Amino acid sequence: MAKVRILPDRVANQIAAGEVIERPAAVVKELIENSLDAGATRIEVEFRNGGRSLMRVEDNGQGMSRDDSLLALERHATSKIAEAADLDRLASYGFRGEALPSIASVSRFELQTREVGSDVGTEILVNGGKFLHVRECGRPVGTRIEVTHLFNSVPARRKFLKSDQTEAAHIVQCVRLYALACPRTAFTLIEDGRVIFRSPECATLADRIAEIFGRQTSESLVEVEAAETGMQLSGLIGRPGVGRGTRHEMIVFVNQRPVDSRTLNYALIESYHESIPKGRYPLAFVFFECDPAAVDVNVHPAKREVRFRSEPSVRGFVIRAVLQRLRELGPATVPLADTIGAAGGNAAAHAVIAPAPVSDNAWRGLEPVPRGQPDSAANGASAHVMRSDPRRPGAGDAAQTAHPAPAFQRAAIAPAPATPAWRFVGLAHASYALFETPAGLVLLDCRAAHERVWFERLQEQFHAGSVPSQRLLLPVPLELDPIAAALLLDRLLFLNAHGFEIAEFGRNFFRVESVPAWMEPADAEPFLRDLIGAFRDGHWPDANPDLAREELARLASVKAVRLPAHSGEADLRMLVAQLFATRTPLTNPAGHPTYIELNHGELARRFQK
Ligand code: ADP
Ligand code: MG
Repeated sequence: MAKVRILPDRVANQIAAGEVIERPAAVVKELIENSLDAGATRIEVEFRNGGRSLMRVEDNGQGMSRDDSLLALERHATSKIAEAADLDRLASYGFRGEALPSIASVSRFELQTREVGSDVGTEILVNGGKFLHVRECGRPVGTRIEVTHLFNSVPARRKFLKSDQTEAAHIVQCVRLYALACPRTAFTLIEDGRVIFRSPECATLADRIAEIFGRQTSESLVEVEAAETGMQLSGLIGRPGVGRGTRHEMIVFVNQRPVDSRTLNYALIESYHESIPKGRYPLAFVFFECDPAAVDVNVHPAKREVRFRSEPSVRGFVIRAVLQRLRELGPATVPLADTIGAAGGNAAAHAVIAPAPVSDNAWRGLEPVPRGQPDSAANGASAHVMRSDPRRPGAGDAAQTAHPAPAFQRAAIAPAPATPAWRFVGLAHASYALFETPAGLVLLDCRAAHERVWFERLQEQFHAGSVPSQRLLLPVPLELDPIAAALLLDRLLFLNAHGFEIAEFGRNFFRVESVPAWMEPADAEPFLRDLIGAFRDGHWPDANPDLAREELARLASVKAVRLPAHSGEADLRMLVAQLFATRTPLTNPAGHPTYIELNHGELARRFQK
């Protein structure tokens, strides 16, 4: 039997680091929290290669004395709590006294600091947990910590890091969260030598949001403010009707700490139940304050998750507060303006050069296709060509005829019956078409079928390299936060090759000048925001143009192609014919079934015959 022994500090620190420092962004988080705890009003963050080669956080906070800075590197050394009961009145971000020794145990760690009232600073260097030196240094009051060679001494952890781009995105997101939490602190963020955002001290949260997310976003918000015994909610929430395709702009803070709280997130989503369409997320930047004793931040070593002592009362309070505010504001002023697929009230404002409005053609594109005859989209396509911008080389007739739209060429290999002998019975809820078939009954999800048809049509268009587009008389302005702007800039060529014409117009500001012919101009902005959301999720297949094209076609068909208004028998038969001419008629582009079949056997079983 091995002997029980106490682990050396260096090993204990490395183990703790495994929990607290899961990735470079966690280092940045801990260092920023320390700077804020030290009362900094200015914080500069710099990193290189997704944080792998360098992370530096510098502040103008109160600094440390030589003795304190040496002590700060000891495990469980903290100036913030003295006994367990202090946890219940916690007013600082830090309290474990684990961050600095953990970080220093898995990197090359250099600390420089100078305390108010002292005329000389202290510099400490530690490498992989090994103390190298402490000496005097010159520096302004405040603290600067530089972390390089992260996880060099722990190769197993280095292996788990994602691409630089992904790690960078986490760092950027982290800095943004603290910048939102503390609008009065000035933040600068530098990536690979380039300033990616700089925000001076802001007087209000709205100003900080405008700095980070753009004026368009901040102007679509309203204040919320409510208090009940022991709980308080304040901040900004989206006006009724304004929603997003991702959760990136739903941000909650508990006692100033950015957190991931299921309770609060669900309460927000629920409050917007009637104010934004299903599947969309509200915009929210809200601060929930309560007695520190009523919330446990000590659930997760990185303190991201919080738990409330009474989840139901928190949830109830937040829902009441947000709902009341939404009701005061009344129904959406521009009804569900950002909803893709809803009739765009302002579509008329964006007249297109060509004669026919999109909705007429959208249906015409869906003409019946005798199976195996690769014509079909030709009608639809020529309708689109008329509407394409005559000034755009490559989008005109010539290009179109050079690639006779091969939309359904591959239909011959589709597994479906040649001409489904389906008898149309009726349409339910304007969504489901019921057919009688030799085998039983079929319920067709019209939306899903339409998406499948368009998905393949767009893929063919993209593949042929000629996407008909329409020039907008009134370009659509698009103001983005700096990261979204960078993500878009990186992919402008790609988008411009696929029916869009987007020009950079100023810092984080773009103008959408043309959109694909099938797109309602009013849908351009929400679609592009959704698309950037997909870029941001880090799964966009940039390295593979074919996959990227497919992904674009998928998003477009699911989110931006409108369901035609007509749905009479002829239209629905046509839709079925179109569907069965696709390569994969059984599912929509997201993989959900396009129809369900109840065969005679199933019917007999259900009726217990
Ligand atoms: P914790 O924040 O949980 O106390 P840390 O390991 O993050 O533990 O920091 C240890 C101590 O070092 C802090 O309690 C604080 O006294 C001091 N410290 C760390 N960073 C700074 C900073 N940027 N400015 C001033 N003091 C700091
Ligand atoms: Mg700390």
